[in-house]
Amino acid sequence: MSLTYPDGRAGLADEVADGTDPLEGLARQLLVEIGEDPGRDGLRETPARYARWWREFVGFDPGNTETAFEQVNHGQLVQVNDIRVWSLCEHHLLPFWCDISIAYLAKDKLLGLSKFARIAHHHAHRLQVQERLTGAIADAIEALCGVPDVAVRAKGEHLCMTMRGIRSPATMSTLVLRGVFKDDPHMRNLLS
Ligand SMILES: [Zn+2]
Repeated sequence: MSLTYPDGRAGLADEVADGTDPLEGLARQLLVEIGEDPGRDGLRETPARYARWWREFVGFDPGNTETAFEQVNHGQLVQVNDIRVWSLCEHHLLPFWCDISIAYLAKDKLLGLSKFARIAHHHAHRLQVQERLTGAIADAIEALCGVPDVAVRAKGEHLCMTMRGIRSPATMSTLVLRGVFKDDPHMRNLLS
């Protein structure tokens, strides 16, 4: 079992000498602290599942996000809407989902369709806040397509708001507009 963060940092102790993931110990301790018995039937395998889920979450491999195709038709508006991703709020360690819509004005490079989803999932699989997630996706699209004309919209529901705190169902929207989408209302109106 190994853990490497998306930016290449190594995890703390990936495993201890007996091969047990240290996250299992943390989970057992958590159960005790909230008044549960980690030895009872339903909970016996929970620490191992907890450890596996965290490793899966932060170790998620979105596949190749680097390929862009050369293209001939310049100036097309390319837009992909409602890519559902799940992330974790870094303030509460509670999940939030986001529907991500991405648009860019293609010049020399055309991005493969699957790349939009890969990029969105890549940046969601870490502790996040929605504003940073939206900006990070815009950065990635801008870098990959080599154009400044990028728009990213995210609409999400945060469990730290709906199941705790104010306990009110609501969605939060964030929008990053760059290049022509920022400067030209006509281009902005083309976004759907
Ligand atoms: Zn939160």
